[in-house]
Amino acid sequence: MKNNYKFILWITSLTAGSILLFQAFWVYKTYQTSEVNFRAEVNAALQRSVDIYLLESISTPLSLSGETPSLSIINTVSAQNLGVATTASKTNPIKSSGPVRMSLNALKIDRANLESVRLFLAKTIALSNKDSIKLSEIESLFKKELSKEKIKVDYQLSLHRFSGKKSKYTIAAYLGQGKGDWVIEAQLTNTRGYLLSQNAVPAIISLFLILITAGSLWYMGLIIRRQKQLDVKKNDFINNLTHELRTPISILKSTNEALLQFGESKNVEKTTRYLKINAGVLNKLDADLDRLLNISKYELGARTAVITPVNIPDLIHEVIEKFQLNDNTTITVESELNIDVIATDKHMIESIITNLLDNALKYNNLPAHIIIKASALTRAWQLEVEDNGQGISEENLSLIFDKFYRVSTGDLHEVKGYGIGLSYVKQLVTTLSGEINVSSRVGAGTKFIIKFPL
Ligand code: ADP
Repeated sequence: MKNNYKFILWITSLTAGSILLFQAFWVYKTYQTSEVNFRAEVNAALQRSVDIYLLESISTPLSLSGETPSLSIINTVSAQNLGVATTASKTNPIKSSGPVRMSLNALKIDRANLESVRLFLAKTIALSNKDSIKLSEIESLFKKELSKEKIKVDYQLSLHRFSGKKSKYTIAAYLGQGKGDWVIEAQLTNTRGYLLSQNAVPAIISLFLILITAGSLWYMGLIIRRQKQLDVKKNDFINNLTHELRTPISILKSTNEALLQFGESKNVEKTTRYLKINAGVLNKLDADLDRLLNISKYELGARTAVITPVNIPDLIHEVIEKFQLNDNTTITVESELNIDVIATDKHMIESIITNLLDNALKYNNLPAHIIIKASALTRAWQLEVEDNGQGISEENLSLIFDKFYRVSTGDLHEVKGYGIGLSYVKQLVTTLSGEINVSSRVGAGTKFIIKFPL
């Protein structure tokens, strides 16, 4: 059982750990993906803003706005006074001191490419006159584009030469194509806060799942632990039961033998004494069996309270009389009730007092002084049983009402018992809608306080 428990605990911890790791990994991956998407969206918004700005503010040739858009391309350039016709090129620049004649060819532009051609021209023109680029106008366009996408983020725009280093985090609109060209870059600030707020829902769902999983596994562990404790208690109970039964059986056997084999039956006085001893032993066995049977009956709800008028101080005295007390034991009964007769279940109250008093006597160091007190409360009454005995340690105090629980005193219990007395008391108190509390100090004594509603 111990190994099984360890194995289950190990498997549970492994499962819990894996689930937690997976959830954490999933949240991290979601965050990363959302960051990449977010930057792509911001980049596209910047690109659109720059394009709109360039198309609106840079004038492109009028020939592009006509019915049939076209561009005039320089075909030939001739320097007339030299009488040499030459084609303009980088390698063969035009050297002229006189008038120059150019022949132009019209290049028809397809309408589908018109926007790209205009943008290309606008970028080329803008590059040749960078000082005319107004960042403030681009900024307000960028703001509009971002708000269309419902993106709230702080940024700073700058126009500078493209250094050639571009990472996935760079937000930039390139005016030229290559290295050394100009670029409008947006430096984003406080993106982490924005991204965290965007990822709050999956993170919360994840946290919720983690809590549910952890909670279920914790609960499972708790049940397994309880099961294990129950198993230990069951074994303890069987041990206690066999030990407890051995004593009365030995007494009954020896008195029986004395009467049968040693002719003691002829001695009337001895016979009566032995029979009285046997009757006491049998009564105790009977009472113990009753307690055991009653516990399950009350638990199943098969027994309910039978309410009759009960004189509480009288009942306390009746119970005390059933115990054989030695000279070192004093029991004080105090009654502070407004009226001694209370409507309750006589048998239940009797069992409660009997069990508490039995314990107060069993777990005592002589001289024992026990106080049983009944007092009145507002719309309730209270029963207290206090002793000056061994006391109960803090860690055991919450367990003593569990069925079959006995405070461990090593392998052999000095004081006999089945560990059912207090669980029976608690069951009875609950059936009477009462409430039981205990306070104790090791070596100083124990006090049980029970409140019953009126
Ligand atoms: P049992 O007396 O048969 O062991 P109970 O359920 O009556 O079972 O009590 C459970 C445990 O609580 C006992 O084993 C004992 O250690 C402790 N206990 C109960 N009453 C007292 C008391 N008055 N003083 C000290 N310990 C007590």
